[in-house]
Amino acid sequence: MSKVMVIGIDSLEPALLRRFEPDLPNFTRLRQESPQIELQCIFPPDSIPAWVSIHTGLNPAQHGLIHVFDVFETQWQDILAIDPAAFQDRTFWDYASQAGKRVLVLFPFVAFPPWEVNGLMVGRAMDDRRLAGGAAWQTERELRTCPPEAQEEYQLPPFLKEVSGKHPGYDNLAARTREAIEVIREKASLGLELSASNEWDLFFIFFGSLDVVQHSLWRYMDEKDPTYPGPNSLQDLIRDTYKVLDDMVGQLIDQHPDATVIVMSDHGHGMRPTRTVNINELLRQMGLLRSKGHRWNPAPRVMEGLKRTVLDFVHERELDYWLLALGKAPLVSSASKGLYMSTASIDMERTTAYLSSFAGAKSYSHGGIEIRRDRLDGEEYEDLRERLIEELSQIRNPEKDAPLMSWICKREDLYSGPHISQFPDVVFELENGYGVYWGIHTPLVGTAYEHNLASGGHKKDAVLLLSGADRKPLRNGMTLMDVAPTILDLLGTKNGFGFDGSSIFA
Ligand SMILES: [Zn+2]
Repeated sequence: MSKVMVIGIDSLEPALLRRFEPDLPNFTRLRQESPQIELQCIFPPDSIPAWVSIHTGLNPAQHGLIHVFDVFETQWQDILAIDPAAFQDRTFWDYASQAGKRVLVLFPFVAFPPWEVNGLMVGRAMDDRRLAGGAAWQTERELRTCPPEAQEEYQLPPFLKEVSGKHPGYDNLAARTREAIEVIREKASLGLELSASNEWDLFFIFFGSLDVVQHSLWRYMDEKDPTYPGPNSLQDLIRDTYKVLDDMVGQLIDQHPDATVIVMSDHGHGMRPTRTVNINELLRQMGLLRSKGHRWNPAPRVMEGLKRTVLDFVHERELDYWLLALGKAPLVSSASKGLYMSTASIDMERTTAYLSSFAGAKSYSHGGIEIRRDRLDGEEYEDLRERLIEELSQIRNPEKDAPLMSWICKREDLYSGPHISQFPDVVFELENGYGVYWGIHTPLVGTAYEHNLASGGHKKDAVLLLSGADRKPLRNGMTLMDVAPTILDLLGTKNGFGFDGSSIFA
């Protein structure tokens, strides 16, 4: 039974580890040592449901935390209200603790405040506090330890620097990235210090800042992105961030040569869809969604047309940031949100099915459809679900006569668990490059307006690199739910915790 060190890096992308290989000696060494393991994210591929699945070995319908972040922060209050009691004492480090292993757990995502473990847990709050005297993107988050006296013993600061995920404005992208790199360095140095001064069998450390960097800078790096501006001063910043992470991983591994190492991410990162599919318009054509407009009231139609003109104007001139900043003011917030999500022109009183916003107000390939069971119009619920799946699975892209739907199914065919009703009735994923959009009275396929603001988006393929294990994995495919049982297996802790996943060694 060896010591196990788990380094979690939010949004670390397998394809970029290959692309930047010459600049990443430590990741490259790890990739050469590691058996080839393909790690798939959960649905929806977003950080909160993903890390909670990693921590607990449970699928999102079992743990029930499927909140997502988005540019409008529509779910922000819910996110701040997340009670870690939902999974406290049921994470891989809890099970290891309970089995008598010494654990050191640093900054785990959504696990705040920290709780009692056999060892030390350092938690970091979710909410950003603006740094006094700092720029808008410079924030700090509260740090707490359990046991509490460890904070003083190790002279840990009460707050740790962070960068805000909000778009800082184009002129500040470089400065915010440098700040994000500082955050990574600061956490890494705490990690090096605490892992040297503590006894542990399991050491877990989490880094989150890379996701923010990739979301806003993707299009400056990726020549294949249609909004790539050509050679530019921001193009190497994602690579620079990977180099800092590489250095940090190298230092941690060198400091603990006796540990089995797992370096992993919750999901990958890639170009966010540039084209959208107006699912609500399809539902309208199927007679399941009603517009507020009719022959005697053309206003919603006119509004949709006007909206598209405004968004086209904004998109061409890269004014999105200002639109978003404006949208933060309470008075225009709902109008601006409505501009993107197009909910204002739907007559909810006469609507049976509509595009869900469970995955936030962002145009991702994954989505879902909500069915109003109180408005079934005589049709059986299951019949309607089957009809929706049947018809939507056949939609084709008029721009190149190709299928648009990658897969579509009932939520119960995706996951089972007590929280399955948090998912939309029907869930689906569009083909690569296409995201969902809420427009009605519009062509089926259109422009993804928020691409400029957040050109990078999450991808299903995550990273899992393994080094120093005394056994060979029995398979090379893995989901996030397999991570906790695999870590416990490496620690020699008996399995029997009701995980949805299983160890790759068993
Ligand atoms: Zn993430």
